[in-house]
Amino acid sequence: MDIKELSLQDIKDFLTNNNEKAFRAKQIYEWLWKKNVKSFDEMSNLSLKLRELLNEHFSLNPILVEDMQESSDGTTKIAFKLHDGYSVEGVLIPSEKRATACISCQMGCTLGCKFCATATLGFKRSLTASEIYEQIYFIKTLAEERGYNFSNIVYMGMGEPMLNYDNIMKSIDFVTGKDGLEMSPKRITVSTAGIAPMIKKLADDDVKFNLAVSLHSAINETRDSIMPINKKYNLEELSEALVYFVKKTGSRPTFEYLLMSGVNDSPADARALADYCRAFPIKINLIEYNPHEGDLFNKSKKEDTEYFIKILEGRNMVVNVRHSRGKDIDAACGQLANKKNN
Ligand code: SF4
Repeated sequence: MDIKELSLQDIKDFLTNNNEKAFRAKQIYEWLWKKNVKSFDEMSNLSLKLRELLNEHFSLNPILVEDMQESSDGTTKIAFKLHDGYSVEGVLIPSEKRATACISCQMGCTLGCKFCATATLGFKRSLTASEIYEQIYFIKTLAEERGYNFSNIVYMGMGEPMLNYDNIMKSIDFVTGKDGLEMSPKRITVSTAGIAPMIKKLADDDVKFNLAVSLHSAINETRDSIMPINKKYNLEELSEALVYFVKKTGSRPTFEYLLMSGVNDSPADARALADYCRAFPIKINLIEYNPHEGDLFNKSKKEDTEYFIKILEGRNMVVNVRHSRGKDIDAACGQLANKKNN
């Protein structure tokens, strides 16, 4: 069993049942989460006997770095190997003095968005909380070694976070808690393709981190055709969940909107988006699309993008335009699909 599946109390119980001092549990917990060691032998303030006892009963299943590729813009994609042989990807995205980690929460994805490279992998399994946390820990360390102030984490890599809810929440507890990295939840953004009931659950759980929704169209017919999840939770249900979320948490979510030529970038699409956003306070990130190998879609033409923005701004919407980073290494938005899994 992976020892990181145990709570502090579980470790205490294990120790007392094995005639060891309960206070050692705190030390072990610190090695596991704060120092993120890869083996019991590194737990240097424990006796050899205790380290052997842990070795006998538990595994650590650390994630290992399999490959790293650095883009010309400094963006670095890391392939992490999981203990059972699967690989997932995380990305370090530097900007001036700061750095953001984009991390994965599932190996593959069940949702099958038509524009997404991860979707082509199918679904293998969800990641454990420690596999998620370790990606963050590694990218944070790498960012600091390179002189960046590690500032943000986005759960926007491979997989749908809301379909791995418990492990996402547990990983965030460690990122924000005293036992882990002690970062502010305001520096974390969790993204969803729009699993409406889970957005309500986030609100009921009174989360303090930021929520992003991959919207990509405010017209049901179009969204159905590019995001099959819309057939299960359509725009009306999504809107209702967002109204609930905003009312309960008081925070303003973000819509992510990839602009794809001839698909969702017409003036009618922009007007539908503006209308849809009337129900709640929201920020809009318009993202330049990066076609991947064998892609059906293209990025929006410059003039279409400009007109789209003009319509939204004319309706007083808060719009950010994001140019994708790390395009030359397939680390840009929607491109994470470790070729080693193919
Ligand atoms: S965009 Fe996100 S939710 Fe959609 S298939 Fe890709 S990983 Fe899954």
